Amino acid sequence: MSSRKIGGLLFGTGGVPLSAESRSTEAGIERIAELGLGCMEVEFVQGVKMSPEVAVSVGELAARKNVVLTAHGPYYVNLNAIERQKVHMSKERILQTARIAALFGARSITFHAAFYLRSTPAETYAAVKRHLQEVTNILQKEGNKVTISPEVTGRPSQFGTLDELLQLSRDIEGVLPCIDFSHWHARTRQANSYQEFLNVLDQIERKLGRKALDNMHIHLSGIAYGKKGEIKHLMLPDSDFRYAELLRALKERKAKGVVICESSPYLEQDAVLLQETYRGL
Ligand SMILES: [Zn+2]
Repeated sequence: MSSRKIGGLLFGTGGVPLSAESRSTEAGIERIAELGLGCMEVEFVQGVKMSPEVAVSVGELAARKNVVLTAHGPYYVNLNAIERQKVHMSKERILQTARIAALFGARSITFHAAFYLRSTPAETYAAVKRHLQEVTNILQKEGNKVTISPEVTGRPSQFGTLDELLQLSRDIEGVLPCIDFSHWHARTRQANSYQEFLNVLDQIERKLGRKALDNMHIHLSGIAYGKKGEIKHLMLPDSDFRYAELLRALKERKAKGVVICESSPYLEQDAVLLQETYRGL
């Protein structure tokens, strides 16, 4: 199974909607379809525990229900860890996520790539690039076509500025950024207006070409932040994030792909809000 081409922008949730009948991925897909949403991110944040058999049947259900899937890898990933074993395990976790995601036909997987720790951003970039290149080499040999999408992160201690991820996507084949606009706003305390959103999209197109805007993996949520960036996720209407302006910019640039809503606590409520707002533009 390889990722299908998406004609427009799809909206969905990061994880199983709260209103699903159970916490299973299958129940999540059913609920996404009932809500009229178009995508869901399967969360492996505590580890990849899904069996290959379940992954295949999840993929069949998603195809039947017309729900596009992505996946979020485990939180315990740091490609810039000091200990070799931790780096090794980080690569393994990304590989495990990509392998199971390929079985359910996911188009892309995202994860937080690294922490700077005591390294400079340049040193961190070099380490992340080297290790992620090894990961994508392995996946390529396996015929795995899932796009590897490290995420724009919300704290200055985390690797993952917009520039870093755009450069990484240029340097490594099979990598495209997951643009978390809420993280970027929290991290920069800017990037929260129509013009700034257009600027981000134009930077993406300039550096990666039109194909990047045609295959976007976006994260969005209400967000609280302070001096050290992201504090916690909120509901969009309870935050200062100007989501309607972002949606307008996405529409203006004809961006395509998935918008995964990670608002807390009622994630599907905001996913529906985003979809309705977008369609009303
Ligand atoms: Zn994330």
